[in-house]
Amino acid sequence: MSELDFMEKAESHEEKIICPNCGSVETATVKHTVPWWMYAHICSKCEYCITESEWQPYKEPKFIRFDNNYPKLHNQTEARLLMVIQDISGEMLLNNFPDLTSWDSLRDDGRYYNIAPEKDYMLLLFVGDKNIMFSTTRKQNEENAILYAESVGDVFRITIEPKGVQNGREQRNKG
Ligand SMILES: [Zn+2]
Repeated sequence: MSELDFMEKAESHEEKIICPNCGSVETATVKHTVPWWMYAHICSKCEYCITESEWQPYKEPKFIRFDNNYPKLHNQTEARLLMVIQDISGEMLLNNFPDLTSWDSLRDDGRYYNIAPEKDYMLLLFVGDKNIMFSTTRKQNEENAILYAESVGDVFRITIEPKGVQNGREQRNKG
């Protein structure tokens, strides 16, 4: 480590934390004092003094989006990612695991999400906040591989965004 690095790193850094008193997400400065760093922050909302024993790091929420309120989700709002299986062809999902695929892709209107036999997918397994497991397929690409494979164990917020909304916007632009 060069002297300059040491000086930069020795002074302080910022961390996002949650106030244990009011729940506010705060940006706190950790001072790199000797011999121990100083973890102390006054909450900007409630003025509670947060000390090291109450230090709760805040993690940015991750989102898993669905285009429909699929019955398999059971109206759960959060889910922990348990497992990621990569590189499954659509053909294999449809031919080798037809029961899983139809259960996974059944929409609330009785129709099915379209799995394309020629495409590759990732299969994600989640357990939701009602302790009900569900799976979901995502396109196999680099972005998804990074997002999901490195997030096993993390909690995702479930959001439902019907495709109709996007189509409506496109149609309006076209019209
Ligand atoms: Zn507070």
